[in-house]
Amino acid sequence: MGNENWYDTDEPVMLSSLEHYDYCPRQCALIHREQTFDENIYTLRGRELHESLQEEPVEMVGDVRIERELPLWSEHLGLIGRADVVEFHDGVPFPIEYKYGPVRSGKHADLQLCGQALCLEEMSGRAVSRGAIYHFSSRRRREVNINTSLRQRTLAVIEAVRKLMNEPELPTPVNDRRCRNCSLSDSCLPAAIANTRKLALLQHALFVVDNVT
Ligand code: SF4
Repeated sequence: MGNENWYDTDEPVMLSSLEHYDYCPRQCALIHREQTFDENIYTLRGRELHESLQEEPVEMVGDVRIERELPLWSEHLGLIGRADVVEFHDGVPFPIEYKYGPVRSGKHADLQLCGQALCLEEMSGRAVSRGAIYHFSSRRRREVNINTSLRQRTLAVIEAVRKLMNEPELPTPVNDRRCRNCSLSDSCLPAAIANTRKLALLQHALFVVDNVT
């Protein structure tokens, strides 16, 4: 599956948007469509971490070549972005995505990793069957199988993101525990927007004109 005609009408989909969409479609639209970006402790530390990766872009450890902040793309799928780290074992790419924040349930980052694997397969002509998520705060590395079900899920999300980019409305806020660690909660106002009664009162208040005597 792939949308080979994506370039007729659409911009390429960012690899990072796959995780954002899987976590919360509204977060994905705010970041990638509305260009909303707010800092919190996790985004600040994540930025610091990514800057440190740029200090040594290529390294050999034994027979393994390690490339950091490697630009990636897939012409076939209309994907673009970067891999934090790619190890090359006998020429076979093994992507590693670094995460700073709390370990999230639901494995949303696996989609971003799978997107990287799909790009690397197209770029290198080698099959990429494994990768890893490295949680910087706990120094733990979790291996991920790039299997059929993850590939199918990733392809579906690529198409969902492409559709979202062309929709006029923002998705409804999820307004649940995901919002607690979301850097965009101040811009998103999930509780106010999700609570339509409260929203109606706020909208009404916007148009109340005080009599000035
Ligand atoms: S605050 Fe909640 S609803 Fe809003 S973007 Fe973040 S996760 Fe999504």
